[in-house]
Parts: sequence; structure tokens; C-alpha cells
Amino acid sequence: MARYVKDFSEGDKDQKDLLGGKGANLAEMTRLGLPVPPGFTITTEACRAYMRTGEVPPELRVEVTMAVRHLEDELGRRLGDFHEPLLVSVRSGAKFSMPGMMETVLNVGLNDASVQGLAELSGDERFAWDSYRRLVQMFGRTVLGIDPDLFADALDKAKAARGVTADVDLDAGDLRALVDTYKQIVRDESGREFPQHPREQLDLAIVAVLDSWGTDRARLYRRKERIPDDLGTAVNVCSMVFGNLGPTSGTGVAFTRDPGNGRLGDYGDYLVNAQGEDVVAGIRNTLSLADLEQVDPAAYAELRQAMRRLETHYRDLCDIEFTIERGKLWMLQTRVGKRTAPAAFRIACQLVDEHLITMDEALSRVTGAQLSQLQFPQFAADGVDRVLLTRAMPASPGAAVGMAVFDPATAEQWAAEGKDVVLVRRETNPDDLGGMIAAVGVLTARGGKTSHAAVVARGMGRTCVVGAEELVVDATARTMVTRGGRTVTEGEVIAIDGTSGEVFLGDVPVVPSPVQRYLEDGLEVALDEAPDDETRDLVLAVHRILEHADTTRRLRVHANADTAEDATRARSLGAEGIGLCRTEHMFLGERRVLVERVVLADDDDGRQEALDALLPLQRQDFTDLLAVMDGLPTTIRLIDPPLHEFLPDLTELSVRVALAAERGSVDERDVTLLAAVRRMHEANPMLGLRGVRLGLVVPGLFDLQIRAVAEAVAARLADGGHPHAEIMVPLVASVQELRLVRERATTIMAEVSAEQGVTVDLPVGCMIELPRAALTADRLATQAQFFSFGTNDLTQTTWGFSRDDVEGAFFSQYTANGVLSVSPFETIDVTGVGQLVRIAVERGRTARADLTLGVCGEHGGDPESIRFFDAVGLDYVSCSPFRVPIARLEAGRAAV
Ligand code: PEP
Ligand code: MG
Repeated sequence: MARYVKDFSEGDKDQKDLLGGKGANLAEMTRLGLPVPPGFTITTEACRAYMRTGEVPPELRVEVTMAVRHLEDELGRRLGDFHEPLLVSVRSGAKFSMPGMMETVLNVGLNDASVQGLAELSGDERFAWDSYRRLVQMFGRTVLGIDPDLFADALDKAKAARGVTADVDLDAGDLRALVDTYKQIVRDESGREFPQHPREQLDLAIVAVLDSWGTDRARLYRRKERIPDDLGTAVNVCSMVFGNLGPTSGTGVAFTRDPGNGRLGDYGDYLVNAQGEDVVAGIRNTLSLADLEQVDPAAYAELRQAMRRLETHYRDLCDIEFTIERGKLWMLQTRVGKRTAPAAFRIACQLVDEHLITMDEALSRVTGAQLSQLQFPQFAADGVDRVLLTRAMPASPGAAVGMAVFDPATAEQWAAEGKDVVLVRRETNPDDLGGMIAAVGVLTARGGKTSHAAVVARGMGRTCVVGAEELVVDATARTMVTRGGRTVTEGEVIAIDGTSGEVFLGDVPVVPSPVQRYLEDGLEVALDEAPDDETRDLVLAVHRILEHADTTRRLRVHANADTAEDATRARSLGAEGIGLCRTEHMFLGERRVLVERVVLADDDDGRQEALDALLPLQRQDFTDLLAVMDGLPTTIRLIDPPLHEFLPDLTELSVRVALAAERGSVDERDVTLLAAVRRMHEANPMLGLRGVRLGLVVPGLFDLQIRAVAEAVAARLADGGHPHAEIMVPLVASVQELRLVRERATTIMAEVSAEQGVTVDLPVGCMIELPRAALTADRLATQAQFFSFGTNDLTQTTWGFSRDDVEGAFFSQYTANGVLSVSPFETIDVTGVGQLVRIAVERGRTARADLTLGVCGEHGGDPESIRFFDAVGLDYVSCSPFRVPIARLEAGRAAV
């Protein structure tokens, strides 16, 4: 049994690891009896052996000899023959397709002798010499590494000498002369003759394809697509068939359904008298398959039949490359075809309706990322000349067009006047929230995908582009300047694309999303409003698949929501609870001063006064939230701001005091404030006095919040509601911290129960967002009724990466040099952070069997991470309301 070489008739479609995608599918088509030109596949194992040793395994040479002889016998032709030469193509074919990344050499086997044989065989001398010059050119570039421009220049010269512009106008004599010129280029550039021996050509071409696995561009592509480097490629050696043998020949691509929109019916392009690369190069206008039916009805009928056969066999949309050689159809390639997001949903449901797949399979054929694409309005595809200002990091998808504004107050004011605005900031902070809500989109010059702007914008489903480092944003001058020197002033219209990260000048038309309409307002409204049947079909397909996901999934889906408004939206999008209410967001705006007073107070009375003022406000917040979430778990997290977010800026305050001192008009309150801010100032606020630490150090702050929750629950009970509030303690590192808070909570809940005459006994749990918390989860579980993994902070503290800085700063380099394949803030780092999650789950459940486990970091809405959370046995994921449908879908996919 051959070790490294498999004949096409030996494999099948499930052997992609060994034969690569192309080889496995060629084998499958051969098995199906479809007309595949005979050939063989050199396995990925040979490539791996070659990568290991740097040498072609000696057995491979022997096996190639056997396979070539077998091919020659089967076809009755010989490589390099004078009369009836066999020619072969040598193509790469990895497990995962890497379009355009790797090498191909066609027409291997032609030399000075066999070119005559090919002329004889084909009856076309011009064709034979054209094939030969293509071989020298392709071989020169791919195998010998010669600059392709040298060949292109020679071709141009030949045409100029003839006074023609098209390749086809060169005759056999011209092409014969061109072959000589090309051979001279090979001699000059590589210091060797173009190899005449066909076997030498074949061996060198095989090595070139094997080498192309390791090129920089291939590595880069794999990193981007997250394809492992050690898979290796297969090499397919296939007897050549020719689409360029005159008007009864041609080559084309076909799809069994429209991969653009999922429309039924076949779809494709055909080019008469051409070879594969001519179609891709787009040098001539192609015909449709309907035209092919006119040109060659018999070949068309055979193609249709093959397509149907393939679709039935693969039970999915297939794409196909084919060639017709003098009226005879040959299938050169097939695979399950790539498709757009709308096509994915529609086709999955079509196949269910045709009883070709089950609903479970339909669910596995769409992704959360595709659903997310469908949720956003998009820029209309065509018609407009766009002026690109810059390209930055896409942080929250969608298309937003509005007037540029440079501060949140103007954003709010203009929005109130009915204007669409895009808020442009160097970076955002919690004070920008009002402006972000008012704006249709947010653009920042600094920050990464988990910067404040990005997280908040995603939470709101607001289009957002971050880290546009090329823009100089000047909030005082109310301008931004591009690298090219174009100044955009306040009020000028800009358009930002949160899917591509592009920023345009001027208006770009936007189309709203019918799928989002469905998700928010229900099927009837969306179907009613759909402009055409195709949109209706798409909405229905999303509905069917999402419903199936809901009945299939094990994980519950909660939402991160801080206000009654967010919560309402989250519920309409299918959230089954609130997994994280970040209460610090309730302390912004005018309440911020009260918090500032609580934190900075130097006497108990001043502090108590501020706390008393906050209590009714917080109680109302929670009562509203619990009313919206009636009957569903609502996890309220005690305040967790890095301290600096609530205190006046030290520099600004220092300057103010210094200037006032110069004028001799110092306000004593400012001096006291400055001293307090100095005292509390932290070099590293993210690792400073925040979370439970703040609650334990500032008297009364957590008490106030716990009391507000307890009183809100009592109020809801009195109103006949079914509140399910839970109290969550942030940034816990030690069980002692949790014990202290829990004791306070027990006391306060008992007080409220006595005061209100109802029983308020709320679960108390904690976030796991520090490595120490994960490692001591068994201890924490003695005090916690639930855990919620704060994977943002857990990633920050496990890697030691500042979540606010690193993405913009150096992640692009870390991705380029392969340290990271994706930001660990986006997709959970299963190896490191994930291990801590596993440990905490295990130790937590050992100590308390009925411990409820969830995740509320950004990863809770990330498709790949959701799979991990399902596998590790969490009870729920919690994500921004907008991502709830994505999480529902992905949780369903994880379960099938
Ligand atoms: C977290 O750290 O993952 C989390 C949810 O908390 P925050 O993002 O508010 O720090
Ligand atoms: Mg956190």
C-alpha cells in the first residue's frame, strides 16, 4: 500500500486531513462516477515529512513513478512523448482552502519534443506552442522564483513587434520565438536550462508546491484564518484537459445555488476557448450558464446533472470548476461553496424543506458571526463615489452617517434637534456616555476593541470604529485632521463602517436591517415591512433557525443591561435574565458629584448626607429594572469603578488651583478637594481601589446599594411582582472580603424585611475575575451562591495586559509575529484564562454542588467562546442585549 500517494479512485471526501480539500473532493467525484480527469494526490503526510526533514522522502519518488506509470497506462499516453504526450497539472490543496496563496504549475510534460506531439494530437500548432510558453512562464516564476514581469515584458514586446494587442493574435511562429525568449530568461535569471526531462519538471513542480506551504504570505494568511501551521498541503497531479482547443472548448465555474443571496437555481460563468486562469483574470466577458445551454446543450445537460448529483451527495451548496474539451465535460474541482450570510440562512432552510438535511444540521450550517452581519444596517453596495478618510479597528458593526461632533454635549444637543451625529473623540470615558447614546456612531483615535468606547458601543449596538491613529482629533478646535492633511470640521458629514473599520467623508446611503427588525419587534412586523419576497424568505429562515436553537440549547442566555430601557430591549431580543447590571453606570451625570462626596468625605455626616441622597435614586433604578425583568433572574453588581472615573482629574484641578492662587482668589473647597484627590490618586487605578476593595474601604457605599436593592425587591413584592434580584460582589480575591460583604448583606436584608414586613433573602455571589479568585474558588463557594466569570478582568490580570491600552498599542505586532492569533479580550484564551475558568468551575462545584455559574465578560457574546463555556458546563452566558440572539444561536450550535 502506497504511503504518500493515493490515486483519485482510492480516497473520499472525508479524507481532507490526508488528501487536502481539493484532493478529497476529486476522489469523491471519481467515486461518484463523475468525469474527473485521472490523477493522483500526494498526501499531506508527505508534506509534513518534507517539512520535518527538508528532504523529499525517498519513498515518495518511487510512489510517484508508480502513479505516473499507472496514469500513462490508463490513458495510453506518455509524459514527454513525441506523438501522444501526457501532460499533467500540479496543484496545491490544503485541508482548508487558502485562495491564491499557493502554487500551481500547468502543462507539465511539455518540452521541445513533446510540443510537436501535442500539436499533432490537438491538430493545432499554435495551441501547442502557447501551452509550452505558459509552462515555461509558470515554471520560471513558481519553481525557479523568476520575476514574472520579465515574462510579461517579453510577451508585450512580442505583441508590439507584431503590432497586435491581444495574446490570441500571436501565431504559432510568434509563440515559438517567445518560447526561445522565455528559455533565455530562465538561463539568464536562474543560471540553468529550462529542464527538458518531464520527470524533472514534475519533481521540481511538486517541491515548489510543497515549499509554497511555508512562504511568508501563506503563513500570514493562516494566522489570520487561524489555520494551524503544521497541517501541510497535499499536491494534486492531474492529467490535463484543455478548454482552449477552439470554439467547442471552454472553461467555467458554477454554483448549485446563488451564493450571494441564496436564490434557487444554478448560477455560473463560462468562457469559450479559455483555460482556468483566464476566467479568474477576468480578461474577457464571460457567458452565463443559460448561454452555455445555447452554445452546447449536451455538455450543459451533463453539467446540470453533475451539479444535481453533487448537491444531493453533499447535501449542500457546491461550487464547481469545469472544463469542456471539444464538447466533452470534465469536472476539475468541487467543494461545499462559501456563501454570504443571507444565503447561508436561506439555503439551510431550503435544504430542510427539500428534506435533504435536518433542522439540527441547518443550525450547524449558520454562525453567530453571520447572524451578527445581518443585524446591522449596511452601506448600500454601489452607486456612490466614496472618499476614504482612514481605516481603523472595527469595534462595533453597522453603518452610521452623521455630522461630526467633537464633544458629548454638542452630540446630545444636536441629536435633540433631530440631527444625526457621529461622536468623534480622541478616546471616550464614562462622561461621554450621553453623547454616545445620542450619536448614531462613535469614532475614536485611540483605544482597542475592549476600550471604553468599544465596549459601551457594542453594548448599545452603536456603530463604532476605534484606534484611528492617523486622525488628529482636536476637541478644542472641533476638528479632525487626516494623515493626508484633510481637515474635517464640526458639522461636516462623515460615514463610519463598523464592520470594515472604514471612515468616509460625506453621505453614503444606508439600508436598514430587516433581520434586526424581526429580532426586536417580532415576525409579523418584520414580514409586513419586508420590501420583497427574498427579504421575507430571509427573515423567516432566521426565525426558524433561531427557534430551533432555543429548543436545542443547554446554556441560558442573559444580558448585560444597566437600565430599564436596556433591559426592555434585552428581553425583546430573548434574554432570560440580567447577568450583569453595572451599577456604576447609574452614578454618572449629576449623581457623580454625590459619589465623589461619598468617596472624598472627611467626616461621617457629609458622607451620610450624600448617601442619603443617593438611596432613593438607586431604589428607583432597581425597582424599574426589576419591573421590566419580572420573574427573571436579575444580577445586580455592587459598584466597581476604577476610582479615577469618579474623581476630578488631578491635573486639571491642580492647574485650576494654581491659576486661582496666582490671581489671589483661591477657593478653599478646591484646595481641600485637591488634597483629597491627591491622597486618592493611583498610578494604576485598574489594580487599585476598586470593586469590593472600594466597598470595604468607603463606609456606607455598599450598604447603600444593598439596601436599595432590598427595598426595591420589597416594593416589587408589595406590588404583586416576582422580583429575582441577586447581589454580586466584584473583584473579589479573598474569601474574607466576600464574608464581610455577605455579613453586611444579611444584616441589611433582615433590617429591610423587618421594616417592610416581607421576607427579602437574596442570593449573594461574586465575580471571578482575578486568578486568585479562580484558584481559591472552593473557599469562595462557601460564601457565594453563584459565580459569574468576569473574563475581561480575568484576561487582563492573567496575561497582565492592560485592557484599555494593549490592543491599540501592540496587538497588531503580536498578531503579525504570531504570538497571538486573536485578541484574548475578544475570544477566550482557552489555554490560559480558560484553564482558570475550568479550575474555578471544578473547585466551586466541589464545595457547593448547586452553585450557579455564568459569565458576563465580553466573551459571553463571542461565538467561539460560547462553545467553550458550554463545554466547561456553565449555566448561562451574559452579553450585551444586541448579542443575545447571537448567543442564543451559538448556544444552540454548541449543543448539536
Ligand atoms: C469583567 O471584568 O469581565 C466584567 C464583566 O466586569 P467589567 O467589564 O465591568 O470590569
Ligand atoms: Mg470586571
